[in-house]
Amino acid sequence: MQQLTILGSTGSIGVSTLDVVARNPERFSVAALTARTQSGLLFDQCLRFRPVYAVLLDPEAAGQLARRLRDAGSATKVLCGAQALETVATLPQVSTVMAAIVGIAGLRPTLAAARAGKRVLLANKEALVTAGNLFMAAVQASGAELLPIDSEHNAVFQALPGQRSGSLADSGVRRILLTASGGPFRTMPLAQMAKVSPEQAIAHPNWEMGRKISVDSATMMNKGLEVIEAHWLFAAPPEMIEVVIHPQSVVHSMVEYCDGSVIAQLGNPDMRTPIAHALGHPSRIPSGADFLELARVGTLQFEAPDQGRFPCLRLAYEALRAGPAAVIALNAANEIAVAEFLDRRIGFLDIPRLIEHAVGATASRAIKSVADIEEIDRQARALVMDAQTVPKRSTAR
Ligand code: NAD
Ligand code: MG
Repeated sequence: MQQLTILGSTGSIGVSTLDVVARNPERFSVAALTARTQSGLLFDQCLRFRPVYAVLLDPEAAGQLARRLRDAGSATKVLCGAQALETVATLPQVSTVMAAIVGIAGLRPTLAAARAGKRVLLANKEALVTAGNLFMAAVQASGAELLPIDSEHNAVFQALPGQRSGSLADSGVRRILLTASGGPFRTMPLAQMAKVSPEQAIAHPNWEMGRKISVDSATMMNKGLEVIEAHWLFAAPPEMIEVVIHPQSVVHSMVEYCDGSVIAQLGNPDMRTPIAHALGHPSRIPSGADFLELARVGTLQFEAPDQGRFPCLRLAYEALRAGPAAVIALNAANEIAVAEFLDRRIGFLDIPRLIEHAVGATASRAIKSVADIEEIDRQARALVMDAQTVPKRSTAR
């Protein structure tokens, strides 16, 4: 029986993870569930999965949840605050931690799980993107296992040889081909993109996801972050990672070998497939996802990304080449710009503009600790907030 901590259990990935857990009750039990503020859904999850601990960030919401659980006869203990996330990510009885908090907020608990030698199921790409070298060093030092949940990286993991030592090139790998749906604005002219609403941006054609990653898919910053994620996960230099647009989201990614072979992983776009793959690894377990009917899919299309309309992809490659400080600034500026866009304070095309501004104003430096990362993160957020006042006055909408 594997005991699990699910960081971010009330989000899109968290809910899908609990769905897979419920289908495989003989394999998994839940030790801890966490959320930021959604105490209602967390309450229901606690009654159903009976974790030892539930964590909420907000003390008032935590007090309320504790009272409700006590009244319902639940034995779940409620903890609160960011430190409690690290506590439940490192519990001795827990073997596996699903890292499904969104954004850099998930960095400390996810890194704590890696340092404690857990099997880390990584959905929270921002944690790896911002702390790549610290993260991979922690995994090495503790003997933790890192299994990718992001569908593209999970596909690459499945397409790589199981036993690997040395570099990708030593295994005969020529390129990693990350597929991208292109998002809801794949074919939209730039002039129209300037006026899109948050509702249009989060209406993804194939995937149902949280709001932040949905906007990232629309700008293609999601793919940019995934290029950086692939760089760390697979020790792949940027020139070995290529993005190809694939509107059907059926081929989840591919690995090309030096003999011309290309190995792909396919499936319906349902995150329960990579989640079940990682939860069961190396066994295969049922996920609840529908099986792929290729005759019904009919056509699979591929095209090159349009770097002109989707500058975020270029910005991510440039930041990866520039070094860790640029990447941290890229991620921070993106998080804050996306939040501003969702709150209707800036336009869609302001997102890449503000990111480029923040990355350009961030000096290169070495990263030795989480504190270093958080300092650059704070500065980049401030740069965006300062710069954002200009378009607010000059752009009529
Ligand atoms: P979501 O917004 O649906 O859920 C986020 C979860 O994190 C919630 O449980 C929320 O309570 C918690 N949370 C948010 N802010 C927090 C904070 N400051 N402190 C503690 N907890 C906090 O997000 P999601 O779509 O499930 O995405 C989660 C992560 O997985 C992201 O990094 C995303 O990029 C990645 N991912 C998601 C998908 C998907 O299909 N949704 C696919 C691939 C990767
Ligand atoms: Mg993905």
